[in-house]
Amino acid sequence: MNKNDIKVFCLICDKEVFAATTDPEVWAGSMPGGAIHFTSSGNYGSPLWDPMCDFIELEIFICDPCLLKKKDKVLHCVTHKKNTYDYTPWNPDIHKGV
Ligand SMILES: [Zn+2]
Repeated sequence: MNKNDIKVFCLICDKEVFAATTDPEVWAGSMPGGAIHFTSSGNYGSPLWDPMCDFIELEIFICDPCLLKKKDKVLHCVTHKKNTYDYTPWNPDIHKGV
């Protein structure tokens, strides 16, 4: 199947996610417009998803309005040198895209 033939949808509201550009060569999954693309290569402890392989991922899309509705459940993480992390509640007003 041609990648451009694969439609992508918001995980929360099921609305189709379209590409951020009108260029027909750009797949919505690689450049979603008004949505965020999340990937996971697995999690230790998940009996549902942990393939333990660097070449397999799940890809999830969540549209911006749904992400905003769920913002209280989103963590904002800053990675520091020496592998330390700061987790705070996500503020959707910072680090906005264009
Ligand atoms: Zn949505």
